[in-house]
Amino acid sequence: MMDLKSLTKEELEAFLLEKGEKKYRAAQLYEWMHRHLAGSFEEMGNLPKSMKEMLAKECVLTCLQTERLQISKLDGTRKYLFALSDGQMIESVWMPYHHGNSVCISSQAGCRMGCKFCASGIGGLVRNLTPSEMLDQIYRIQRDTGERVSNVVVMGTGEPLDNYDNLMRFLQLLTDENGLHISQRNVTVSTCGLVEQIRALAQEKLAITLALSLHAPTDEKRKQIMPIAHKYTLDEVVGAVADYGQITGRRVTFEYSLIAGVNDSDEDVKNLSELALRAGAHVNLIPVNPVTEAGYRAPDRRAAKAFADKLEQNRVNATIRRTIGADIDAACGQLRRKVRLEGED
Ligand code: SAH
Repeated sequence: MMDLKSLTKEELEAFLLEKGEKKYRAAQLYEWMHRHLAGSFEEMGNLPKSMKEMLAKECVLTCLQTERLQISKLDGTRKYLFALSDGQMIESVWMPYHHGNSVCISSQAGCRMGCKFCASGIGGLVRNLTPSEMLDQIYRIQRDTGERVSNVVVMGTGEPLDNYDNLMRFLQLLTDENGLHISQRNVTVSTCGLVEQIRALAQEKLAITLALSLHAPTDEKRKQIMPIAHKYTLDEVVGAVADYGQITGRRVTFEYSLIAGVNDSDEDVKNLSELALRAGAHVNLIPVNPVTEAGYRAPDRRAAKAFADKLEQNRVNATIRRTIGADIDAACGQLRRKVRLEGED
């Protein structure tokens, strides 16, 4: 079965020509899927019945089922639990901001990276999401809210660079002028640090923001919380991220989950500052969300603020992110609703 929504416009043309359809039908079908965000063939009013029958027989139009929706009374954040066609569940989050609405999407069902503090990896990797399943999260939410999505962060469940080819195709379709046409500058991809893929991504010449989940500033400490640190040293991964910034001209981000007594000492500030300065990175501090049995807890607000101030003293830009949608957070440990806290306290 052909996964229609994962095809580029050119591939869709080739497919329809092969099926004996006219070329201009591809533009119509593409528009239905990627601009009108149609959820079924029936909605596609200007396509002939015979063509829709052929499509229904030979292709799939992926479609997510909303299993659960939680809406924050505090800030309007919406957390969706979607079922994929094979019954796998994924989560996506919609965050309304004055400067535009953001959606945080998942890139895999499960994850095989096994970070100690993260709930997404507990059951291991189930499977990669297709490009259409990544797009569907955004399409579904835009249809549901009736509001335009302007920012996309690939920071949900999964390691996006472990699903590289599908991620590339997703990015192409997402930013295509015939689709939602989201600006590359408004897209962030977050990785635990797969060095070869970071280097490959830099060569794609995209204007997307790269976020590295650093979380510890020495190899020794990083190995304790992130298995990927056994494969790549900090020198290698920070080197690749620094080169990404140089090649693309885009400022990179370090994600740093603050864990009390693990990575929040003065020595950590010093080491983190050196790495951030080397990569020209902005540091996002995220008080760790205690979701697993690892027993990690976050430093209190004051200590987090002090950590950020010390980074600033070393000329490193740092912001503390807080969890938003706090009232809908309790049921879920996987996705963190993040918002930049400008001028907290
Ligand atoms: N695999 C990618 C994408 C996941 S993004 C990555 O590692 O970047 C999700 C972000 O939330 C990552 O920075 C991840 O390390 C972080 N995270 C996971 N569990 C967390 C927790 N319990 N508290 C705070 N941040 C967490």
